[in-house]
Amino acid sequence: VDAPAPESESLLERRHKSFAKPQKNYYADPPQIERGWKEHLFDVKGRAYLDMVNNVTILGHGHPRLSDAVGRQWAMLNTNSRFHYAAVAEFSDRLASLTPEGLDTVFLVNSGSEAVDLALRLAWAHSGHRNILSLLEAYHGWTVASDAVSTSLADNPRALETRPDWVHPVMSPNTYRGKHRGDGSTEAYVAAVAEKIAEIENAGGRLGGFIAESVYGNAGGIPLPPGYLREVYALVHERGGLCIADEVQVGYGRLGHHFWGFEEQGVVPDVITVAKGMGNGQPLGAVITRREIADSLEKEGYFFSSSGGSPVSCVVGMTVLDIMRDEGLQENARATGDHLKARLEALGQRFPLVGAVHGMGLYLGLEFVRDRETLEPASEETAAICDRLLDLGVIMQPTGDHLNVLKIKPPLCLSRESADFFVDMLEKVLSDGW
Ligand code: PMP
Repeated sequence: VDAPAPESESLLERRHKSFAKPQKNYYADPPQIERGWKEHLFDVKGRAYLDMVNNVTILGHGHPRLSDAVGRQWAMLNTNSRFHYAAVAEFSDRLASLTPEGLDTVFLVNSGSEAVDLALRLAWAHSGHRNILSLLEAYHGWTVASDAVSTSLADNPRALETRPDWVHPVMSPNTYRGKHRGDGSTEAYVAAVAEKIAEIENAGGRLGGFIAESVYGNAGGIPLPPGYLREVYALVHERGGLCIADEVQVGYGRLGHHFWGFEEQGVVPDVITVAKGMGNGQPLGAVITRREIADSLEKEGYFFSSSGGSPVSCVVGMTVLDIMRDEGLQENARATGDHLKARLEALGQRFPLVGAVHGMGLYLGLEFVRDRETLEPASEETAAICDRLLDLGVIMQPTGDHLNVLKIKPPLCLSRESADFFVDMLEKVLSDGW
């Protein structure tokens, strides 16, 4: 029954009152956004914003072909995957066909966190061991196991004091500001992993697996050191562990030059987790693996997710892939992303605050530092720059353990004009002050 809100209470006050506090919102005084179109968002006052952070809505906002397909499917049937219908077979087949040979088996779930939880369970069930290596500075989700392997201090300042004992964080292979820097740092970072494995084994434990984003998304889109995953995967495989590539953020075409992040490292993982863009905002996630790994889960009984793989979810997933293909969105991520990166690098020539431009395609990280020698993170400046960009009509947010990296991950339909508008506004803020 409708209980009218007191007129004196703003919508934002109502949000703060009834929407649980740990669920943060962007901005202290956020615009009320009620509509979207392509890479643009509109507030209730009619003001337009360029959405440079939406890594979920890869097709862009308000796509009519997607809403038509969803509406049609909702009107026909939506049920669970224990029933036999075409969409679940077709979508699973299609996802498997996007991956390297051998990764032929799909679980359908509803989010990235669920996908990571399930991937960890597969590693445990298949290897028979519980110890998991995870990178420092990583974020993998909010469910119990995906949260356990998340070490990002920006998301949880107490993360390192509170990990369960089966999680073994390894040195962050951050080639920009990590302990070892540059492309020559591979051996040192691989040695850190080998040391961690030795620690586990010296304590009488055995390794179950390794999880990492294949391009370091949470740290700001930093590529892993060359050959890093090849060597780490070999160490893990020697022990019978499984290698999980978390492609929730960076995979699925966003990198432009590659469909999957692990291609950048020239490896094939045992388990891939996907979500976010694959549903364009509709809850949709998947785990893609080899048949024998998937089958190991039967030791623990059957797997069932009430709406994972529903007809509506599968139609969303297939329509997203159709639109990506027909509109050439991965190619646009490459071409517009290359253009955007070159323009951002040119800003770096003029403004010493720009320490580096990481990433590729439409997953870029612009890192602000107070000093290019010490790399002191410009965290407060980054927050102020994001606020000033909002005034100028650009939605942008910081990432990284120091919240000093602009996380640039717009819808993949981003036009060259919109990319230029973003850089022009950033240039204005850097020139005029914030
Ligand atoms: N893995 C990575 C790399 C992510 O970035 C995220 C979400 N930011 C997740 C997993 C969790 O996905 P979800 O929010 O869909 O549960």
